[in-house]
Amino acid sequence: MSEKRSNPKQLKNLSQKNALHFSNQDSTRQPKVLMKTFGCQMNKLDTALVQASLKDAGYGVADDESNADVVLINTCSVREHAERKVFSHLGNLKHIKQSRPELIVGVLGCMAQRLGGELLEGGVVDIVCGPGQIPQIPELVKQALVEKRKSLAVISEIRKESAENPELEELESVFDSDDKRIPGQAFVRAMRGCNNFCSYCIVPYVRGPEVSRPQEAVIEQIKRLAGEGVRQVTLLGQAVNLYEYKNGGKTYCLADLLEMANEVDGIEWIRFVTSYPKEEYFDEICNAMAELEKVCGYFHMPAQSGSDRILKAMNRHYTAEQYLDLISRAKEKVGGIAVSGDIIVGFPGETDADFEATVELVKKARYKNAFIFKYSPRPGTKAENGMEDSVPDEVKKKRNIELLAVQEKISNELSAEFLGKEVKVLVEGLSKKPHLNKAENQNNPQLIGRTSTDWIVVFNGPQSLAGEFANVTISKTSPLTLFGQLS
Ligand code: SF4
Repeated sequence: MSEKRSNPKQLKNLSQKNALHFSNQDSTRQPKVLMKTFGCQMNKLDTALVQASLKDAGYGVADDESNADVVLINTCSVREHAERKVFSHLGNLKHIKQSRPELIVGVLGCMAQRLGGELLEGGVVDIVCGPGQIPQIPELVKQALVEKRKSLAVISEIRKESAENPELEELESVFDSDDKRIPGQAFVRAMRGCNNFCSYCIVPYVRGPEVSRPQEAVIEQIKRLAGEGVRQVTLLGQAVNLYEYKNGGKTYCLADLLEMANEVDGIEWIRFVTSYPKEEYFDEICNAMAELEKVCGYFHMPAQSGSDRILKAMNRHYTAEQYLDLISRAKEKVGGIAVSGDIIVGFPGETDADFEATVELVKKARYKNAFIFKYSPRPGTKAENGMEDSVPDEVKKKRNIELLAVQEKISNELSAEFLGKEVKVLVEGLSKKPHLNKAENQNNPQLIGRTSTDWIVVFNGPQSLAGEFANVTISKTSPLTLFGQLS
């Protein structure tokens, strides 16, 4: 077992250096890797990077565990539920390993960084690799396959220098959703890490402090992707609205990045996620959204609570009033903008009155959709160490259901406004409900696309539309989905 640290120089062309030479094995068979991804878009981007580097190194893609030589699980530590799912998956793999001990299992991402060597103890996991060490994956997989070596590649102390890793960003980053490619779309990391230290969140501890990429590197990557046929880029960061890069006496903010990306030929839509509610650069970003034709009118800006007391306990640096002021300014400046949010119910100490304040905030924010979670303590966070998880689970459940109903009503009202209207969508591909695409629908299957304001649109059409823009007239709506016909 060896602890490894990222070293940008050594990482140069790592994928090629670790290309497989399986002369001592069945040289006609290309080892296959299955990747499973849990968690946020940051993780999905990391998965895409890993897949690309393994492809460069000569690995194939497995359809499922039965034909995989290597299973890599890219994990999330943000919610207890996500970790439980990973452990359950590892339980299944343990079972498989009893009959196929040669199967290599790797755990990557936030959970790998959080639990480190503990993960190697159960006898199932061969590779543990933190988010900052992802460029080492081809080397670690090769060591595991060829030399039968177990590896622990996490950093013991996350500092700004170690979080900075330009080599990682040079890898191809066309985005895969559920490990399937969405044609015409790519995610581009604008920044990594987070400085906010919300008291319930593990991210700053596992992903390190905020580091913004040089504006030129981001734009060059977008140009390259456009040259490869990408039509939509999404700029990613845990708090992407706080992007800031100083270069040649100028400080570049997200609005500058959006302006430069807007100039890239071939790119038609530009999105960004996630935004942290903060004054800094907010008006500049809204102005960019209003003025730049390619920038989509969509904000994902989590509030987490509507109670100032709880927001303070969460170490979120705004009040409910300040949050709602940001939302109303965005709606005023950017015509037709859609906003989505995240809410945590049952945070330690949350009273009925606090919860009512959250219900009020959700009613006023009028989110297109909201991700509503029940609080669960995450090991290593301030909330877990110093605050009693005082809200009983049945109260959390009740509040969760009540808030979901409030949000569903709002989503229903907002989606109904689309009835009879024509919307432009970027088509993602086949609908994920395979039963709707049986034999009778093969020539005109059910497709899924998204509007610039992030509404999901379902309609029938030729599969060749995947990656293209299409106009759809909406004839039916549900809280989260618009249904229609090609115009
Ligand atoms: S802003 Fe808060 S919740 Fe979001 S990643 Fe940073 S610490 Fe976590």
